[in-house]
Amino acid sequence: MSMFQDIPVDVGIAYEGERIRRPQMYLEFGGPKVKYKFELARVRKPEEVEDGKVKIVGPDIKDLPEGSSVPLGILVEVAGSQLEEDLEGIIERRIHEFTNYINGFMHLNQRYDIWCRLSKEAFKKGLNSFTYIGKVMIRLYKADLPIIEKIQVTFITDPKEVERMYHEALKIYEARDARARGLRDEDVEEFYGCTLCQSFAPTHVCVITPQRYANCGAISWFDGRAASKVDPKGPIFRIPKGECLDPFKGEYSGVNKVVQEKSLGAIKRVWLYTAFGYPHTSCGCFEAIAFYIPEVDGFGIVHRDFKGPAINGLPFSTMADATGGGRQVDGFHGISIEYMRSPKFLQVDGGWRRVVWVPKAVYERVKDFIPEDVRDKIATDEDVKTIEELIEFLKAKGHPVVERWKEKEAEKAEAKPVEAEAVAAAPEAVPQITGMTGVSISGIPMAAGGLRIILKGAKIRIDKVVIKRTGSGGK
Ligand code: SF4
Repeated sequence: MSMFQDIPVDVGIAYEGERIRRPQMYLEFGGPKVKYKFELARVRKPEEVEDGKVKIVGPDIKDLPEGSSVPLGILVEVAGSQLEEDLEGIIERRIHEFTNYINGFMHLNQRYDIWCRLSKEAFKKGLNSFTYIGKVMIRLYKADLPIIEKIQVTFITDPKEVERMYHEALKIYEARDARARGLRDEDVEEFYGCTLCQSFAPTHVCVITPQRYANCGAISWFDGRAASKVDPKGPIFRIPKGECLDPFKGEYSGVNKVVQEKSLGAIKRVWLYTAFGYPHTSCGCFEAIAFYIPEVDGFGIVHRDFKGPAINGLPFSTMADATGGGRQVDGFHGISIEYMRSPKFLQVDGGWRRVVWVPKAVYERVKDFIPEDVRDKIATDEDVKTIEELIEFLKAKGHPVVERWKEKEAEKAEAKPVEAEAVAAAPEAVPQITGMTGVSISGIPMAAGGLRIILKGAKIRIDKVVIKRTGSGGK
C-alpha cells in the first residue's frame, strides 16, 4: 500500500493471518511468559489528543534484547465529535487487525492477554521502533473509521507502568462487561456478528448477543451495536434475529441466514446455548474452552493462561487445536469468561450444573454467577489432579452429574447384554468419541453408522480426539 512507503516492511491485508513461530521470532511482547500486558482504547476530549503522535514509555524495540519476552501496554486514544465511550471496545479490538497487517508482526488475543511477536526478518529490514507500528495503526484507523478525527498511540514497555495501567484497564473492561448484564436475548430486536477472525478461521462468524458474549471476550452486544452503526459495512454487522426457531437452544432464522452467508455456506445452523449439535463456531482467540469429559459426563473449563494439562490430561494448546478453526466441534467449545456469567451459559447441556472442573483462577472470577446449589460442588485444579480423584470429589459433594451416572447405569442395566447391537438409524445424538490421550473411556455408548457399540469396562488410549454428532436431537 502506497500510504506505507516510509515503513520498512510491507503492510497489507495479505499478512493478516501470518504466524511467527519461535525460531523466526526476534522478540515477543506479552504472551504466557509475561504477567502484565494489555491493550486499551479510550475516547478523549479533542484537546487531550495530539493527532498522529506515537509515544513510547520505556525502552523501544531496538533497545530490547533479542529473544526476550517483554511486558507491553498499547493505549489508543481517540477524539471526534461523533465518538462515544460506547465505541471504545470496538476501536480497541481493531488493534488486532491493524497490527496484523504489518509483515513480520503478529498480534494474538485481546485486552489483558495480548501476545505480539516481531520476526527476525522484519527487524533486519528496519522495523526496530514502535514508531512504525504506531504510524501504521494511526493511518489504518483514520482510513477505516473516519469518525476518528484525532488519534495518538502510546506503547508502554516500562514494567512498572505496564503493571499500574494493567490494573486500571481491568476495571475499565469490567465496567464495559457489566453494562450488558441483565439484558436478555429475548429483549432485543437484533444481534451482531463479527468476522474479524476470519483471517485465522475462514468459516468463523461470531454471533454476539446480550447473553452470549463474543468468544474473545472483547466485544459486547453494546459494542456490536455501536460498531455496526458507525461502520455498517465493516467486520461487525447487524444480524436481524428473524424468527425464533427454538428459544431453549437459541436458534434464530436470522442468525442461520447471516452465518450461512458470512461463512460462505460452511455453517448452516447455529444453536447459541450448547456445545453439541450445531454449536457456535470457535475461531482461535476464545478466552477459554468448555470441554466434554466422557468419564464423568460433564464439562471441564480451561482458560488460555492455564499452565500444564487440564483434568483430562490435555494442555490448553492441544485442546485449542481441536476446538478452533471455525468449525462446529461437539464437546469442544470456545467461550469467553463473560459468557460463563450468563444465565444462558450452555443451558441446553445443563449449564453450571454440568460443569465439574474449573481452574481456580477462573472460578474466582465467575463464582458469584454460579448457581448457589452447585457452587461448592465444582472441583478446581487445587482440589483434584486426576479423573479418579474428580470422580470421588463429585460423589462426595453430590454434584448433579452423579445423578446422570445413576440414570445411565439404570439404562445400561435394561439394555441387552451384548457388546454390539444394530439400531435402525442414528439414535438420539450421542457424542461419538474416538479416543483421548491419557484418558480411558469405559461404559460410554458410541454410535457409529448404524451400529451402537457399548463398551464395557474397556480402556482406550488413542492420540487424537474426534467427536462428531450423529443425530439431530439436543444433548
Ligand atoms: S472472537 Fe469473534 S468477536 Fe472477537 S474478534 Fe474474533 S470474530 Fe470478532
